[in-house]
Amino acid sequence: TKYVYDFSEGSKDLKDLLGGKGANLAEMTNLGLPVPPGFTISTDACRAYLEHGQAPEGLAEEVDEHLDALEQKMGRRLGQADGPLLVSVRSGAKFSMPGMMDTVLDVGLNDDSVHGLAALAGGDKRFAFDSYRRLLQMFGSTVLGIDAKVFHDELDRVKAHRGTRNDLDLNVDDLEALVTTYQELIVTHTGRPFPQNPREQLDMVVGAVFDSWNTERATIYRHEEHIPNNLGTAVNICAMVFGNGGMDSGTGVAFTRDPASGAQGVYGDYLQDAQGEDVVAGIRNTVPLADLEQLDKTSYDQLLDIMAKLETHYRDLCDVEFTIEHGKLWMLQTRIAKRTAEAAFRIACQLVDQQLIDMHEAIRRVNGAQLANLMFPRFDTHAERVLIATGMNASPGAAVGKVVFDSESAVEWAERGESVILVRRETNPDDLRGMVAATGILTSRGGKTSHAAVVARGMGRTCVCGADSLTIDVKGRRMRTRDGVEIAEGDLISIDGTTGEVFAGEVPVADSLVVRHFEGDETTTGDELVAAVSRIMEHADRTRRMAVRANADTPEDAARARRFGAQGIGLCRTEHMFLGERKALVENLILAESPEEQQAALAELLPRQRDDFVGILEAMDGLPVTIRLIDPPLHEFLPDYADLAVEVALHDERGKRDTKEHKLLETVKRLHEVNPMLGLRGVRLGIVIPGLFAMQARAILEAAALRVQAGGHPHPEIMIPLVATVQEFELVCADITKVAAEIEADTGVRPDYKVGTMIELPRAVMAAGEIARAAEFFSFGTNDLTQMTWGFSRDDVEASFFGTYLEKGIFAVSPFESLDTQGVGQLIRYAVEHGRATRPDLHLGVCGEHGGDPDSIHFFDEVGLDYVSCSPFRVPIARLEAGRSGA
Ligand code: ADP
Ligand code: MG
Ligand code: MG
Repeated sequence: TKYVYDFSEGSKDLKDLLGGKGANLAEMTNLGLPVPPGFTISTDACRAYLEHGQAPEGLAEEVDEHLDALEQKMGRRLGQADGPLLVSVRSGAKFSMPGMMDTVLDVGLNDDSVHGLAALAGGDKRFAFDSYRRLLQMFGSTVLGIDAKVFHDELDRVKAHRGTRNDLDLNVDDLEALVTTYQELIVTHTGRPFPQNPREQLDMVVGAVFDSWNTERATIYRHEEHIPNNLGTAVNICAMVFGNGGMDSGTGVAFTRDPASGAQGVYGDYLQDAQGEDVVAGIRNTVPLADLEQLDKTSYDQLLDIMAKLETHYRDLCDVEFTIEHGKLWMLQTRIAKRTAEAAFRIACQLVDQQLIDMHEAIRRVNGAQLANLMFPRFDTHAERVLIATGMNASPGAAVGKVVFDSESAVEWAERGESVILVRRETNPDDLRGMVAATGILTSRGGKTSHAAVVARGMGRTCVCGADSLTIDVKGRRMRTRDGVEIAEGDLISIDGTTGEVFAGEVPVADSLVVRHFEGDETTTGDELVAAVSRIMEHADRTRRMAVRANADTPEDAARARRFGAQGIGLCRTEHMFLGERKALVENLILAESPEEQQAALAELLPRQRDDFVGILEAMDGLPVTIRLIDPPLHEFLPDYADLAVEVALHDERGKRDTKEHKLLETVKRLHEVNPMLGLRGVRLGIVIPGLFAMQARAILEAAALRVQAGGHPHPEIMIPLVATVQEFELVCADITKVAAEIEADTGVRPDYKVGTMIELPRAVMAAGEIARAAEFFSFGTNDLTQMTWGFSRDDVEASFFGTYLEKGIFAVSPFESLDTQGVGQLIRYAVEHGRATRPDLHLGVCGEHGGDPDSIHFFDEVGLDYVSCSPFRVPIARLEAGRSGA
């Protein structure tokens, strides 16, 4: 294998081999830009070194050859006593990685060559010793592992002795003394002198760069950023140029346009008489790049020229690092620059206008996460803020409100027009109404897939969960922070769902212009960001194959989803329609002892549900609305057994025995399940409680008939949950057909409707070909399908062991957040193939949390689903990602 590449041999497309820095140095070299000559030791060499604990065979010879060539080119030998060649040794992995060793400059200096360097610089001893002390400092701390503070303290001491804070005030004697002290410090700390042999210096730095790949900080960073551990880093060896030889020299960093807003202009910082990291280290005040025009117009013009050239060449925003040596400009680094979400959208459109990229490329240059970022309201970070706790950033946004500790108060206060934050230890389905009423939700327990988190994300409510430093006292209506601060019901707090922070009091919030635009606020149209976003969205809509629907259970949510571009509802859950005051009616149904009692209970529920559906069908008129028949375990509609038992016992004791209550208690006991998620739920309820699904179907179809009579165009799609066999489906479907016929007979209207099923059990996947005989559509319930496939209880595993799994890299991200394409994804692929084999026009969609997750959306597109459905707030994100997937 070849391990070493001259800069002229590489290109920007060789990042795997040469690392990002090396690949781009090569690219600039080949563009004819002024890059000091040098060469790159490949990541192959690093991997081999790390695997065997020593440099691979042949590497030393190759380095010799390239060093030789470099010396020939420069006319000087590395570290030679009279006029030495010096080099920088610079790490550079495929992805830039803080936590790894970066760079050692001025390699090749020693007690002799420092005088040669001075002679080269026309006798400038100060400059030579300044460079030498820098080498000792960088070598000592990064290669020899001595705490950098040891050197900084010494430098500060010398400066203090001179009575200055500016390193430029140190004279040659100071620097020479510093060099001596640094060498002594190295001996004290390592027991060995600083290596005087230039080639030994070089080899030691290269080895240290390789080793730095495995430092703890680097490993942690890779883990967080999902960067594989086996890439390794490249090492760049580059002839030194000097920005520290006087005021006609200097070093700087620049962007080809503003990375925060995307605005074109001159952005960067410059520091005279400085080297390397001085610019960013804040040792002296830098000047804005624009000032360079006054200081050195020739270099300035050349730099701007080069930046324009780079932007055209890379067709993107770039950043650069450069050095000026006595009026001569040198380019030392470039790369595609990181940018804010706002800049990403603006720059993508600007580049289209400059005809550097087309719209397809433009939508690939932005992503759903950036769009989401632009949609959240945010706290003003300049405002004064008192942080009281930090939890998990479960559902983004910035919410301010008065603290309430229970669902009823949340509803009551919200009805009075108060903005409230619902604070709970954890939430359960009983808290739903409170969650709907609240602006934000804060819990002290549970992770990112806890009930609170999932529901909040679904509703677009801001949520911070698992803020475990808070002690919540629901009965006492107050909470206490770790520092002992008490917060009582009615006190104002602010929660940031993007960062997980919780603040005392009211932090000012700024509204998202982009959301106002989606909501139809025309005053936003003049805004440049809004214009860029809508241009990108239009193109995404034109490009995408998949439709995007919303998960919505209320007319309000449906209407909002529609404004956000939803093309129908992919999941309307009906269980919410059994809660609140209707809970009593459900109890009657469950307690019914005769068919008559059961009928009576159902008859009371029917008109209420019908009204719900009329509103939703109206909001989505003309578009498909997939309505799922009741799904959750029955016990969710019944009181808690323990609570009820206590209550009954109390009543009995006081002689107020209540038979209905006793009956209820017995029923609750009878219906108790050890494992409700695997118990009596979904289609099983429909089969066991006669009339329940028929009632729901009737409510839906009567609502549709009413809509038709009112001149509307309803398209309900009735969806049966948790089906495992076609027999289950057929039983329920027969009831629905019967109901439809009755309604047609009664009203003369036969509304357009479909009946289909959710695919959320592995068995349903395997039987998909059969089920498709009867079902007109499939909707993949990826939450349950993930849960059932992995055997993970969604409500438990996150808090108990997901942390360990993520840490050990068993998965990089929770399979509940982003679809597990290897496992669950293959099941979906199978069901799609077999379903379509039976029924070629089978309509296919997905309605789990994954429907709004960018990576998952790309997978759904690939396997050929017709639509994804997600919460209303994620609809624009799904539209964008579906477009990107097609572009
Ligand atoms: P990082 O990855 O931290 O940016 P670099 O390898 O880019 O590390 O080095 C940091 C800085 O050191 C550069 O921005 C540049 O100012 C300086 N530097 C690196 N190589 C040279 C060189 N050959 N000549 C002069 N300065 C250099
Ligand atoms: Mg750095
Ligand atoms: Mg750099």
